[in-house]
Amino acid sequence: MSKKELKFNSKTIHGGQHPDKAYGAVMPPIYQTSTYAQSTPGGHLGYEYSRSANPTRTALEKALASIENGEYGMAFGSGLAAIDAVIKLLSPGDEVISTSDLYGGSYRLFKRVYEKFGITFRFVDMSDVNNISSQINEKTKLVWVETPTNPMMNIIDLKAVSEITKKHGLLLAVDNTFATPYLQRPLDLGVDIVMHSATKYLGGHSDVVVGALVVSDKELADRLYFIQNASGAVCGPMDSFLTLRGIKTLHVRMQRHCENGEAIAHFLNNHPKIEKVYWPGFENHPNHKVAKNQMSGFGGMISFIPKGGSYQDAIKIVEKLKIFTLAESLGGVESLAGHPASMTHASIPKEEREKSGVVDALIRLSVGIEDVEDLMDDLEQALT
Ligand SMILES: *Cc1c(COP(=O)(O)O)cnc(C)c1O
Repeated sequence: MSKKELKFNSKTIHGGQHPDKAYGAVMPPIYQTSTYAQSTPGGHLGYEYSRSANPTRTALEKALASIENGEYGMAFGSGLAAIDAVIKLLSPGDEVISTSDLYGGSYRLFKRVYEKFGITFRFVDMSDVNNISSQINEKTKLVWVETPTNPMMNIIDLKAVSEITKKHGLLLAVDNTFATPYLQRPLDLGVDIVMHSATKYLGGHSDVVVGALVVSDKELADRLYFIQNASGAVCGPMDSFLTLRGIKTLHVRMQRHCENGEAIAHFLNNHPKIEKVYWPGFENHPNHKVAKNQMSGFGGMISFIPKGGSYQDAIKIVEKLKIFTLAESLGGVESLAGHPASMTHASIPKEEREKSGVVDALIRLSVGIEDVEDLMDDLEQALT
């Protein structure tokens, strides 16, 4: 059977992979080399210089393409380097319409790096896709979507957005970091570019900083490969190896993240010390129906506000947690807690931040794959 026909769980292990040609190594060797011998100028075995391509990175890039149901994968030195490559498709004068509630670093890259090169970013609440059309003009080139959003867990209807972008001839890129292809495959829904911070669930073990892009269109892939090589923010061989190893267990990890996430979401929702829980699996979540349609589960990311919560209350809770580690990042096997207002989203001005709901008392959890009873006990002792 061709590997293209494999189901998702098999793809995470076998997609785009084959034993190494030299000795049959089942895992690709870490080709820790910058360059490759040539018999005559241009006489090489497919690799010339490791910024352009490296066999370990190629193995990862093929795996990325496979699990996202795309044709072409690209691995970068970080998630932000991957986003940076997408924005470099644009020219001065172009406009981007972006999700308003998005990863703080993406916002910072858009506003503080690219606006001064003459690219304009319009931030729109896309949980109602009708808000997008009125922002489109002849300069609009790209729509940037994050769903579920970080940290408010809003859900955006990718199919509906892709109908709008197709009608207007715009590129549509989706940051699929939170959902992972285990839960949602944007290319199947009409999206042009899928982006990942593979630092998070794809790597899954909090041991690398890696970014990824996957596309299906050959011409778009060529433009992005050109930028990847020309700008040079590539993923190194060791990190490629570790990310590839992480991907091989993505499906089993995600299954447990979803189970634990669901249990913790309900635990918090029923807790007397909690004001509000943000998790797309609740039936009263504003876009629960969309989430149910476009995702096969609700993931392990949850945000909540403690009752009568202030900045100080939130800080006290995150400081008291013992199993949940207070740290930036998410998506690893271990549970993490974060305080967006002072951590991941500190780069967004307070006014902007609070408009999208990132208030001072908000706490974000990345629920890991420990025993869920231990996680509940930990939250209980920190809340009381
Ligand atoms: C972490 C993150 C990024 C940035 O990725 P890095 O690997 O840290 O550069 C982008 N988007 C989302 C949703 C993230 O969580």
